[in-house]
Amino acid sequence: MINIAIDGPSGAGKSTIAKKIAQKLNITYLDTGAMYRAVALYAVEKGVDLSKAEEVAPLLDEISITFINKGNDKSVCLNGRDVSSDIRKHEMSKYASEVSKLPQVRQFLVEMQRKIASENDVVLDGRDITSNVLPNSKYKFYLTASAEERARRRFSELKEKGQDIDFEKVLKDIADRDYNDANREFAPLVKTEDSIEIDSTDKDQDKVTELILEHIRKIDGKDVAVEENKRQLSEKTQKIAKKSNPFIKLFAKFVRWVMGGIWHTKIYFKDNFIKNSKAIVICNHYSGFDPCVIISKLLGKNGRVMMKNEITKNKFIASVAEELGCIPVKRGEADINAVKKVLFALNKNRQVLIFPEGTRNKGADFKQMLPFKQGVATFALKAKAPIVPLMYYKKTGIFKKNRLVVGEPFWLDEYYGSKLGEVKEIATDYIYSKMADLRKEVDILVEKCHGSKKKYLKYKRLQSKELHVNACHRSQE
Ligand code: C5P
Repeated sequence: MINIAIDGPSGAGKSTIAKKIAQKLNITYLDTGAMYRAVALYAVEKGVDLSKAEEVAPLLDEISITFINKGNDKSVCLNGRDVSSDIRKHEMSKYASEVSKLPQVRQFLVEMQRKIASENDVVLDGRDITSNVLPNSKYKFYLTASAEERARRRFSELKEKGQDIDFEKVLKDIADRDYNDANREFAPLVKTEDSIEIDSTDKDQDKVTELILEHIRKIDGKDVAVEENKRQLSEKTQKIAKKSNPFIKLFAKFVRWVMGGIWHTKIYFKDNFIKNSKAIVICNHYSGFDPCVIISKLLGKNGRVMMKNEITKNKFIASVAEELGCIPVKRGEADINAVKKVLFALNKNRQVLIFPEGTRNKGADFKQMLPFKQGVATFALKAKAPIVPLMYYKKTGIFKKNRLVVGEPFWLDEYYGSKLGEVKEIATDYIYSKMADLRKEVDILVEKCHGSKKKYLKYKRLQSKELHVNACHRSQE
């Protein structure tokens, strides 16, 4: 794995430079400061004293931090909520610095960071990456700049965001943070002996980026990242080539194509779908072709689908299914192998489709879902993954007008930190209720609004206005 570690004081330009390097090398960027900020935000919202470990530490179990790709940028999600702008507010810097002194917080985040770094090629920036998170990294940098220059950069950044603040305050806050970060007891900011120091005071971002890339090349005598990437790509290709023969591959492609084209399915609110990070996708289930349609229209090549292991009886179907990303599961028993595969896929930021009813719904009333199995809740809690609900309007079929609605993702964060056995059932009820809510919306969309998204959105706007007016009337009474 390529792990590039960049440390330095606040405002030295680490995150901008780290992002640029990640882009150039086509690897991931991990903003560890954002993780401390997210923890601080959670603690502030809970109203605890940030300096007290006994008040902050118990909250850690309730926290899930994820990064979701948004265009060229990454959103930071705290228990599923996009907090990217909240954590950048000026006062959050101070709070982050405060919670970062607590060893429990550091341990919690450092573990996460090491895990990400062990599974991905990544550029990390922070305060303790070179000294503590990845002391064995081959590529270590210490990026700095004068305090005035750093304050000036921070000041214009805040002004641009419309935050009202004076320069002297920013300068003082920077100095305070420098002091805090360098003098705290656990993993203070230091320049390790083997880090290459770069002073960015009078250098622009492109110059600094190029300098670091040059050093990386020198360390290995060639453009290491490009080489590594090539190697990994070829390893992956070899693995795939070993597994699947060309005919199976072609057939799987054909299935994708047929399902995407001939099996007509209109998909509503596709934007709700999570593409680049882990997610459990759930859907009501009528036909054996439902998974193929979802694979070809939503999941893409990286997606995985849990399917009954009866499909593996036929070797040909089993190989095609594997090529399509299926994870066979033995029903009616705890299939540890399948569980591991699902968690592995989620850890790799893949989306896994699971039919929570466990089997096809052959009931007369297509709107009445079967009871849910507890697998979805288990996975969502173990992996702290969001759930994306999908709902077919009615029984699906090849010559039918199939309609599939993507609901808004939700998280089971309320149950994080509780014992799985104690909350699995209630979490499953919650998932069921979310699907039941989506069913109501689908009915409105198809039956009241004749399948028109425009009419549906108008209907929702009117409905929320009405609710607002009624609430006002009530409060006047
Ligand atoms: O880098 P950023 O300014 O977003 O970091 C916010 C705060 O989080 C820092 O001032 C520092 O106290 C803390 N931090 C840390 N270790 C890291 C990253 C950030 O202690 N690796």
